[in-house]
Amino acid sequence: MSEKTLFQKIADKELPSDMVYEDDRCVAFRDINPAAPTHVLIVPRKPITRPDLIEEEDEALVGHLFTAARRIAAQEGLTDYRLVMNNGADAGQSVFHIHLHILGGRPMAWPPG
Ligand code: AMP
Repeated sequence: MSEKTLFQKIADKELPSDMVYEDDRCVAFRDINPAAPTHVLIVPRKPITRPDLIEEEDEALVGHLFTAARRIAAQEGLTDYRLVMNNGADAGQSVFHIHLHILGGRPMAWPPG
């Protein structure tokens, strides 16, 4: 059995977090180093390493992350916000357990850095 990822440990409440949402398939908690006034990470309980390793069998789960994002954004009072999933270190991925960032509460520039 491989060791749990950081985000599995948070999902399993073995590590602390400021959790704002959870259900049977995902959890969401505030980013420890927020890049916007609201910065929440939505993490599937299933530890998929990177977005490019998402399989067909995971399609419903990944779709679920987006409906969870809609609920969480409403809960946070956000109407306009950015949803980001980084794939690989050069794209900014630092935790290798997929997660959808919700960033909001300030105007966003495009393209991102
Ligand atoms: P990424 O760089 O896309 O992999 O995003 C990983 C995010 O996880 C970063 O924005 C980090 O600030 C955040 N992060 C790392 N460790 C924790 C933690 N223990 N609790 C909450 N957020 C974390």
